[in-house]
Amino acid sequence: MDIRSFNPPIRTLMGPGPSDVHPRILEALARPTIGHLDPAFIELMDELKVLLQYAFQTENALTMPVSAPGSAGMETCFVNLVEPGDKVIVCQNGVFGGRMKENVERCGGVPVLVEDPWGTAIDAGKLEEALKAHTDAKIVAMVHAETSTGAQSDVAALVKLAHAHGCLTIVDTVTSLGGTPVKVDEWGIDAIYSGSQKCLSCTPGLSPVSFNERALEKIRNRRTKVQSWFMDLNLVMGYWGTGTKRAYHHTAPINTLYALHEALVILKEEGLENAWARHRKNHLALRAGLEAMGLSFVVKEADRLPQLNAVTIPAGVDDAAVRSRLLKEYNLEIGAGLGALAGKVWRIGLMGHASRAENILLCIGALESILGDMGAEIKRGVALPAMQKALA
Ligand SMILES: *Cc1c(COP(=O)(O)O)cnc(C)c1O
Repeated sequence: MDIRSFNPPIRTLMGPGPSDVHPRILEALARPTIGHLDPAFIELMDELKVLLQYAFQTENALTMPVSAPGSAGMETCFVNLVEPGDKVIVCQNGVFGGRMKENVERCGGVPVLVEDPWGTAIDAGKLEEALKAHTDAKIVAMVHAETSTGAQSDVAALVKLAHAHGCLTIVDTVTSLGGTPVKVDEWGIDAIYSGSQKCLSCTPGLSPVSFNERALEKIRNRRTKVQSWFMDLNLVMGYWGTGTKRAYHHTAPINTLYALHEALVILKEEGLENAWARHRKNHLALRAGLEAMGLSFVVKEADRLPQLNAVTIPAGVDDAAVRSRLLKEYNLEIGAGLGALAGKVWRIGLMGHASRAENILLCIGALESILGDMGAEIKRGVALPAMQKALA
């Protein structure tokens, strides 16, 4: 085997993540590596906390990136907050709610599933019934933006309900952070995690998390040790905590943290509200084009995520063949369906730096050309004008 340097093809990433990484972020990644206890690096860590507090809209002191992808942020929340025997209500309306249930079980907790159909938002009425039926529940866990279906749930209302019944909340905002409003303090979220590679458009491998005082109190009063040494917040805080002298816990992924820092600086320069508005505007343009072509959305309008568009695959069209041609002929990646929606939908991401007019143009043009070529029943020649009208 003749193995040489790896040079990836240049793709446009419009799937469920990773999304297109901004060139400024790639450049930050290539800066010289320094020691993780270097005073200059500690300054960067302090700035990262401030930038993440802005992104999460929180004043929580414990706000930091876990040194691993979104799934590790999820696990950090569960291993620290769930003790053996704790009853946890898990709202499930897609793939990621299912992973939350797995986490509860592995922590020795007792999960109670509140299920909603895939493609719909979490039903507050069902959660309320479950809270009334399980007065001993300690935590409610939910996914804000279900990447597997493109549905967004009303986290503010669900958290309020959980609190009214004395429960703490764990919220997954891996796909929502930076794309749609996430307001940790205003909504009262107790523990939250996200990911670097979706609407923050950073490289994968980091999971921003934040915990409020109520969550920390539960962690401090644990009867048992957190079973994960790496994710035990009591230990991680010695590394990321303020005021105290930083102690070695693990070696932070130094260059990836440069990248996250740059991603958050870009977000701050644009402004959160402007980023949300851009995601919404570009979603409406993509939607105008796709609907003009004759394609339809899976999620009802009020619950649609602007950054993750689940579209029904037209009858008779070969799902894998279309995605493979998009990649080969146009260097364009879109996502396949997951779980209950596998083979039935495409998931078109407009996340972070990928949420741009030229990407929508490429996606609509390429889809029209390939679907037309395959003899699918679509309307031709109307999608681009519809998209341009929506953007104007
Ligand atoms: C992508 C995603 C995750 C997992 O993140 P990884 O970085 O892939 O580990 C968790 N939850 C949701 C909603 C996601 O979209």
